[in-house]
Amino acid sequence: MKVFKFGGASVKDAEAIRNVANILQKYKSESLVIVVSAMGKTTNALEEIVNAYVGNKGTAFELLEVVKQQHFAIMASLFDEKHEVFGAINDTFVEIEWVIEDDIQDTYDYIYDQIVSIGEMVSTKILSAYLNEVGLPCQWLDARDVILTDETYREGRIQWESTQKNAQKTIIPLVEKGSFVLTQGFIGGTIDNHTTTLGREGSDYTAAILSYCLDVENMSIWKDVPGILTADPRLFKNVTKIDRLSYKEAIEMTYYGAKVIHPKTIKPLQNKNIPLFVKSFIEPEGEGTSISDGVEVLYPPVVVVASNQALLHISAKDFSFVAEHHLSRLFQLFATHRIKINMMQNTAISFSVCVTYNRYRIEQFIQAIEGEFKIVLDKDLELITVRHYHNDIVKSLKKGKVVMLEERIRKTLQMVLKKVPMMERVG
Ligand code: ADP
Ligand code: ASP
Ligand code: MG
Repeated sequence: MKVFKFGGASVKDAEAIRNVANILQKYKSESLVIVVSAMGKTTNALEEIVNAYVGNKGTAFELLEVVKQQHFAIMASLFDEKHEVFGAINDTFVEIEWVIEDDIQDTYDYIYDQIVSIGEMVSTKILSAYLNEVGLPCQWLDARDVILTDETYREGRIQWESTQKNAQKTIIPLVEKGSFVLTQGFIGGTIDNHTTTLGREGSDYTAAILSYCLDVENMSIWKDVPGILTADPRLFKNVTKIDRLSYKEAIEMTYYGAKVIHPKTIKPLQNKNIPLFVKSFIEPEGEGTSISDGVEVLYPPVVVVASNQALLHISAKDFSFVAEHHLSRLFQLFATHRIKINMMQNTAISFSVCVTYNRYRIEQFIQAIEGEFKIVLDKDLELITVRHYHNDIVKSLKKGKVVMLEERIRKTLQMVLKKVPMMERVG
């Protein structure tokens, strides 16, 4: 058995869906579990609906209409107008209408998951109907019946034992029937049948969870890039493909924010020694990148850029040292406010942390500590991590930027950078 994951870009329109079907034709005789994301940028659009509804902006219905129309246009190009998928998709979108018709009664995170999860529900129903239509027998599976999480909405934590039991009990018999099994990435369910999501870009993680639970032969994720590259091709020229990576190296890259794979993906695969292939859905015959154990190669410098970063400089109000008891209290508060620390540095009187900027969480955090600490906040920063760095590359990355914080540990260099403000000439 193998697991395939198709991300948003691979199912973004009718042509893309036909392309996925073409790829799958070649694997017709294989036992495949296929994990699929929402189409294109649907998740972003659904987030806007949540914000419009919670913010009482009254545009939630209009925004929903746009998302619906996009899906119906894609279906119109793939199916005969009498196909039952039209009714099924309409009914699925109605679930969003039920939420936004009512007054707000639940928390933001709960509402978010109920609305945003619909993106994966509709994409999988459409793709599954299409595969069946073109002679690729496929069974649609509700991931919420398999992936069990706790009630941490928007970041559901996997209940591994139950998930593994569910996966084996439900998926193995389906696969044995000889058809593909197709399910949603990114979403799960609680013991009380409430929908949860696993965090943005979480479909890769779903594929890894199922790979682990089913002990599969290997897992492939199909992307719009030829494999893992030395940096994001959207940000840098002259990037090259890395043919083979160790799990450890892949964990390092994704942990620091390489957008190509969700950071939680690698560990479950490593634990069971399941190889991961990153392949291109544009050139499916390409070798891609393989990630596995025991890869001893000399890596080129790999650059990871995380934007939307902020630095918090925290010092004690009485000018005392920032001592252990302060730090332990601060770490506790970072955890309660779910602020992720990406880098930190401690000097005698100040403690600086680089965090991903989330206005709401950071404001709440500052409010909680401003009685005891003096805080300076720097926003609009970039955290660049370079694995296997050399001085030339570091120098070129710093060009036109101010280095706010820098740290080198063995093979990893990290720096928090700010664009140099352009000075305007007077006269
Ligand atoms: P999906 O469609 O599966 O959600 P993503 O868009 O999340 O795929 O991930 C693919 C994108 O990741 C690429 O288009 C690329 O811009 C970006 N990316 C960032 N870092 C890298 C890297 N080191 N190698 C390849 N792609 C990268
Ligand atoms: N659709 C979700 C997102 O865009 C999950 C995923 O694509 O991995 O974040
Ligand atoms: Mg993605």
